[in-house]
Amino acid sequence: MECKITLIPGDGIGPEIVGEAVKVLNKVADKFGHTFNYTKILMGGCSIDEYGVPLTDEAVDICKASDAVLLGAVGGNVGNSRWYDVAPNLRPEAGLLKIRKDLGLFANLRPAYLYNELKKACPLKEEITKDGFDMIIVRELTGGLYFGERETKTVNGMLEARDTLTYNEEEIRRIAIKAFEIARKRKKKVTSVDKANVLDSSRLWRKVVAEVSKDYEDVALENMLVDNCAMQLVMNPGQFDVILTENMFGDILSDEASMITGSIGMLSSASLGKTKLGLYEPSHGSAPDIAGQNKANPIATILSAAMMLKFSLDLDKEANAIEEAVAKVLSEGYRTVDIASNETKEVVGTDKMGDLIAANI
Ligand code: ATP
Ligand code: MG
Repeated sequence: MECKITLIPGDGIGPEIVGEAVKVLNKVADKFGHTFNYTKILMGGCSIDEYGVPLTDEAVDICKASDAVLLGAVGGNVGNSRWYDVAPNLRPEAGLLKIRKDLGLFANLRPAYLYNELKKACPLKEEITKDGFDMIIVRELTGGLYFGERETKTVNGMLEARDTLTYNEEEIRRIAIKAFEIARKRKKKVTSVDKANVLDSSRLWRKVVAEVSKDYEDVALENMLVDNCAMQLVMNPGQFDVILTENMFGDILSDEASMITGSIGMLSSASLGKTKLGLYEPSHGSAPDIAGQNKANPIATILSAAMMLKFSLDLDKEANAIEEAVAKVLSEGYRTVDIASNETKEVVGTDKMGDLIAANI
């Protein structure tokens, strides 16, 4: 099979981790007889440096013409300024918001899975995770606070800022359908997370999700308030299968869930819309503190590449080969520094972790 893949290395550790994912993909292509054609584009701080904007329309067109997009991370500084001193549409992260919107990627899937080998890296007591931890967060990605109207103005001589959280029925319905479809292929349980005791948008969310659930009688639906969910995740994480939630709650809860897996460096993600074209990226950011030091864990990006094979390219066998190679390398005791413990056989750098996984395909 011949596929067109757009690569967006991005900023910080992005280029390093995407490089390792490509190494693994090339091994897959070799082994299974596929041709992956890559086109690289700029997004984030590197695009601001080159073109003055975090993402050009030409770059978006390249993404639209491909079968899938693999992204490292965007973030970091804008020249000598930190992002918060810069206008919202010129921040590196604005590139990410633009690409999600332009490609219509409204569903963000974030699997969180605790490998047996990483139980030592999990901050929870072992008795809490003894039954395992294997869930997926389905986060709405193109609505809510991050896309609402915002304004900063001076009122009575004082600065005042406003963000708004809006959802319509259709936006809620399409993400709910994604969550129920995924749950159907898993443990058949959806936990819909909201703040319905306070927010109108959450009450609408609850109503629409309940309507959608009528088409999925084989899937159990449970509603949970977001503050309770944050607590349940560390008290009894094994209860969850699919968490369905809005944009900001999903952002926060997925970082929390990621820590249970041992490191944010383990968590992959997929962003999907109505077509096969998807965007795949690790759940973590550009980690400027460790960029260029060969320390970053490339596994989240490599597992994101596996999700890409599965969801956009229908290459399930190949995706499984990557997941098995990751498990094998972990079981052999190799760790990047973020997941190392005193039982680690060898702490390896970004490039060696990529080499080991590729060698096990
Ligand atoms: P951004 O602004 O791009 O989100 P950030 O400063 O919030 O960047 P994150 O990327 O979110 O940083 O990372 C938070 C912490 O986790 C950092 O200390 C970072 O070094 C660490 N981290 C993130 N990704 C990885 C990884 N792949 N491997 C190892 N450590 C990581
Ligand atoms: Mg971050």
